[in-house]
Amino acid sequence: MSEIAIRSSLAGLEEYEVETIEAKIIVNANESNYPVPASIQQEIEEKTKSFLFNRYPPIKCETLCSLIAETLGVDIDKVRVGNGSSELLQMACYAFGGAGKKIAIPYPSFSMYGVYAQMSDSEVLRYPLNVEGFLDAEAVIAFCKENQPDLLILNNPNNPTGNYNPLSVIEQIIANVECPIIVDEAYMEFARGEGVDPRDLRPLSQLKLVAGSALALLNKYHNFLVFRTFSKAYSLAGMRVGYSVGSISLSRILGKTLLPYHVNAYSLMAAEICYRHKEDFREQIEEIRSQRALMIAELKELGMKVWPTETNFICYSPEGKIQAVLAEAYEKKYGYSNYSAATKAGKMIFKAMLAEKILLRDFSEHPVLQGCIRQTIGLPEENTIVMNKIKNLCRECL
Ligand code: PMP
Repeated sequence: MSEIAIRSSLAGLEEYEVETIEAKIIVNANESNYPVPASIQQEIEEKTKSFLFNRYPPIKCETLCSLIAETLGVDIDKVRVGNGSSELLQMACYAFGGAGKKIAIPYPSFSMYGVYAQMSDSEVLRYPLNVEGFLDAEAVIAFCKENQPDLLILNNPNNPTGNYNPLSVIEQIIANVECPIIVDEAYMEFARGEGVDPRDLRPLSQLKLVAGSALALLNKYHNFLVFRTFSKAYSLAGMRVGYSVGSISLSRILGKTLLPYHVNAYSLMAAEICYRHKEDFREQIEEIRSQRALMIAELKELGMKVWPTETNFICYSPEGKIQAVLAEAYEKKYGYSNYSAATKAGKMIFKAMLAEKILLRDFSEHPVLQGCIRQTIGLPEENTIVMNKIKNLCRECL
């Protein structure tokens, strides 16, 4: 068969592929390493016994939409549910983008934004985060004035750096940009929110779960949608459920691109039970936060640059002396390469951990994040093992 001519936007894309690597400790994908709490698991199992597998799910995920709407005190028409927030992101690119349209995305950030925008034939515009990985509201507003995107995506907190941007920054952008905006808050449950000192480790129950989220702006502005997911804080990555909350008119436009019965009934049932018992996840989230503080301190002590994370992952890179010795160790072990010292040092950590069956995420070749490793905050015992191995590696190389 002769080569099939397809749209140039698709011709320029590869199928998404991730090498399958056997590992004992998996900390590469920002999932939760905590299982769903036992009492919730039991409730899901109980429901499974009489589950109507033969029936289609609610056509527009109405049961989960109404539960979320009721909890947040918003109209049900402000809520949409998808197969992970990934599906909602992809469909938002189809809904608000398309041939001749432009989608503005942050950089460095979640790489799939660019892929979804490209799939939809939209032109991809990358606006930079500042050198510390934060949004510069004035720069984003100026970027939008100059480039006139049809959709603006914000990621707060940002993957892969972890930066949380205060609500005032998000509000400034929402108030001054004309096009529809998506605030992707996949990791917001792990952030402490506005006015909360990151060193304050009081139990989460004493702090508001949505403090600092754009959800707090829902009654004030009508040009944005907040995207959330069950894949991170709710330990349900395997179920693939995400949701969108925001302006009715934007929700209806997004809704036009969603298939009927698109989220499977079993996932909806599990997500509903988890959402109903969201308080039961607080302990896990709290533990992730305190582990995060410990790990950041340990990495800094080793001489790593650590990005200011408010998520369930940490992004770091060896600097100065430890970068030099790890880069040297890399050359010794893997031979000469053109990589920068930063990249070699990052790769040394990645490969040394892989040899120990620990899977990290390697960003060391990223143009802005040279030398960076991203590590999910796992269970405390996993974190101890990984941190000890990294410390040993650094000690051996010094
Ligand atoms: N947004 C961000 C920033 C992410 O990091 C991810 C997952 N890595 C997603 C969205 C998609 O998550 P899901 O489809 O599992 O909801």
